[in-house]
Amino acid sequence: MTSSIPLWRHIQRNNFTQIKVLCDYLELDESNRQKILYSPRFPLNLPQRLANKIAKNCLTDPIFRQFVPLCDEQVPHPDFVPDPVQDACHRKTNKILHKYHGRALLVTTSACAMHCRYCFRQNFAYETQERTFDEDLSYLSTDSSIKEIILSGGDPLSLSDSTLTQLLTQLDAIQHLDRIRIHTRFPIGIPERIDDSFLHLLAACKKQLFFVIHANHPRELDLEVLQVLKRIQRLGIPVLNQSVLLKGVNDTEDVFLSLAQNLVNAGILPYYLHALDPVQGSSHFALADERGHQLLHYVQTHLSGYGVPKFVREESGQPSKTPLNSKLFLYTDKITVY
Ligand SMILES: *Cc1c(COP(=O)(O)O)cnc(C)c1O
Ligand code: SF4
Repeated sequence: MTSSIPLWRHIQRNNFTQIKVLCDYLELDESNRQKILYSPRFPLNLPQRLANKIAKNCLTDPIFRQFVPLCDEQVPHPDFVPDPVQDACHRKTNKILHKYHGRALLVTTSACAMHCRYCFRQNFAYETQERTFDEDLSYLSTDSSIKEIILSGGDPLSLSDSTLTQLLTQLDAIQHLDRIRIHTRFPIGIPERIDDSFLHLLAACKKQLFFVIHANHPRELDLEVLQVLKRIQRLGIPVLNQSVLLKGVNDTEDVFLSLAQNLVNAGILPYYLHALDPVQGSSHFALADERGHQLLHYVQTHLSGYGVPKFVREESGQPSKTPLNSKLFLYTDKITVY
């Protein structure tokens, strides 16, 4: 029986989920341990390979900051709220969010390969009872204005290959759908997820697929991660990346440029740089938009144009993400030329 469980599931079950165990592993000293939040609302979930990348006894490590709960999460801030992007208002079925014309998003599962402390969906009231996507598929079938479905979550790669195969087959059968987009952070934490079986199910899909990963710091993109993504690219599936602008993670010129360089060197296009969604408990990651403009200007002047992501903010009630890039031009007026 156990032989039918894929390797990646075993790896996932070995994620760090107990904070004290992780603190020991990271060799945190007493004063650093006092800054750790031991019972966070959003539980710790960190793959071993990401924990391996964290410097010992270092609270400023960029991987550490993304995944390990700090007491800073308890600092209240009036602008940081449970559902900052108002997902709840756009729920059309238990699992479909339909905010924008032409595309809809399917919250396939609540499970992720890892828990990011700044996740805007950490308080989402995930539907966990309904095992099928019948209601959601019928919503998609009846609205022919929907040309693209985004599989999100949680992380759709948490689903088994058989569930994913069934879902993709059912989506393939919806005539008016042209594209299927997969939003996932799995390859960063558990690249073993991209195994032969998964590649087969992608290859069998008849619609144009887009594969969008989420990496914020160049250290997340090691050789093994890039190798599995290359296997996806070889199937003719574009791989894009989205990042979130995070204080103490990717807010320096060097880090931001190397992230963009590492991506384009692997043929991965930087898609979006998201301004932080003000979710409760994440105010210690906040930066002024000007910082984003400065970083983008730096990338724009050091790297080919396709290496520059679109800087956007999610604003409730808007017909798309709000572009913030245009302010780049205003900003350049103020820049010292050297
Ligand atoms: C961000 C988002 C999308 C995708 O927007 P694009 O600009 O097409 O990447 C779609 N639906 C929802 C609900 C979203 O939050
Ligand atoms: S992988 Fe995505 S959905 Fe999951 S916790 Fe991180 S940001 Fe949230």
